Amino acid sequence: MQNSPDLPAGRMPMPAQDAAARRGNFSEVALGYTLEMARAEAARCLHCKRPRCVDGCPVNIDIPRFIATFLAGDIENAYRIIRTTNSLPAVCGRVCPQEVQCEGVCVLSAKGVPIAIGRLERFIADNFLHLDACDLLRLGPACPRIDPELKVACIGAGPASLTAAGYLSSHGCKVTVFEGLHEVGGVLVYGIPEFRLPKAVVAKEVAALKEQQVDFVTNYVGGKTFSLEDLFNQGYKAVFLGVGAGLPHFLDIPGENASGVFSANEYLTRINLGRAFAFPEYDTPVIRGKNVTVYGGGNVAMDAARCALRLGAESVHVVYRRTAEELPARREEIEHAVEEGVQFAFLNAPTSFNVDECGRVASVNIQRMRLGDPDASGRPTPVVTPGDIYTLQTDLAIVAVGTRVNPVLLDSEPRLTLNRKGHIETDPETMETSYPNVFAGGDIVTGSATVISAMGAGRRAAHTIAKRLGCLG
Ligand code: FAD
Ligand code: SF4
Repeated sequence: MQNSPDLPAGRMPMPAQDAAARRGNFSEVALGYTLEMARAEAARCLHCKRPRCVDGCPVNIDIPRFIATFLAGDIENAYRIIRTTNSLPAVCGRVCPQEVQCEGVCVLSAKGVPIAIGRLERFIADNFLHLDACDLLRLGPACPRIDPELKVACIGAGPASLTAAGYLSSHGCKVTVFEGLHEVGGVLVYGIPEFRLPKAVVAKEVAALKEQQVDFVTNYVGGKTFSLEDLFNQGYKAVFLGVGAGLPHFLDIPGENASGVFSANEYLTRINLGRAFAFPEYDTPVIRGKNVTVYGGGNVAMDAARCALRLGAESVHVVYRRTAEELPARREEIEHAVEEGVQFAFLNAPTSFNVDECGRVASVNIQRMRLGDPDASGRPTPVVTPGDIYTLQTDLAIVAVGTRVNPVLLDSEPRLTLNRKGHIETDPETMETSYPNVFAGGDIVTGSATVISAMGAGRRAAHTIAKRLGCLG
């Protein structure tokens, strides 16, 4: 066992699986606090009169109160406080970018040692994971009788819809979630790997929703298997669209169609949803590259690079056109990747792939860059260094340069107004779209963002729906 090296002095380190060992398995990397560790970390909280952490949390968890309640020895009520505004705490405690949210604004962060709020949230939530779904529910907000007439449909089963479904069913609505894939959870199951977010954690949260009488219909594609009008004709009073933004962007360079060049979405879906890592128990095919290159610098790129290592790659290079400073991935993920042996090629951009006689990718031509003036987002623009090109061997190339909305549903529903980026336009407060009684939230509205922001949007939309259906008393 070893501790992550990223942690500022004074903060309780998170135990983690040894880097050399974890490179060969898909088990969870961060092992979680013990009770003593959690208590020691919680004891650092100042219980501020004006706690900035609450505003920094996109769903406004009452952080000082849950910490104080836990410190007083009442872990059950600490859990209840978290669950009041966050229906997926064991998920969020693992994957939320707390360093730019609650922890980023924690009063103690001025001294560089914010409270490890996410780790405490995870510790408390994990203590209740062993409960069956029914008991888990009893610890959440009280659940009224479900009215079968108050039918609401959610399309897509990612964190936005799961949150909307949980909120609505806890206010008496009969919710059905329609998901295009054969498993429920969205990116939580097909994108984020087991070693960061065990699928059993997601399954537990879904089981609690089923206990709350939420129905899940899988292999059902909005815009193909059914239309929004079909749902209203079947008596649904409102529809929530949480279909995410899962269509990958590509590099648009020569050779990109070669065998062995994947989108990160496809690569990660084969591994996570198709369990390709568990061959021969699961026989989903995946290419096990020897010299792997990954293009991009976000969480998706880190996940793909770390999966490739675990599938036996001898070398994995993350090719990124800016510097380490601008990497958008979570700091902890970058550090874990480095510990495991992922290498970074900064200020590098691919220009073309070279292909062998069988049409398989064999190498990539890479252009060296330098940083120029800031762009509209404030990040320095990468600028080509003319003539400075080299070639890197690669037999598996994974493209992780962002995603956009999938047109399947949107193309068949012209009553939905889209913005110029192709995302669904909604009223920012009610989350209603231009199609009356149709609401939307999560990545389909914002573009690729975070789990917690999708959850926050799902909750806002569900609140409006519940109010409209007269469920708020
Ligand atoms: P999704 O999670 O994308 O779920 C949408 C669901 O809708 C999917 O299950 C999809 O199959 C389904 N669907 C799509 N079209 C249809 C249709 N027509 N009919 C029926 N169903 C449909 N965020 C973080 O906060 N922390 C992280 O560490 C992090 N890591 C990430 C790693 C990866 C590899 C990826 C891809 C994303 C990561 N994110 C992370 C981003 C985060 O997962 C997303 O912002 C979040 O999942 C968006 O939630 P959502 O509910 O809007 O959509
Ligand atoms: Fe505790 Fe930090 Fe929140 Fe203050 S801002 S209450 S120190 S977690």
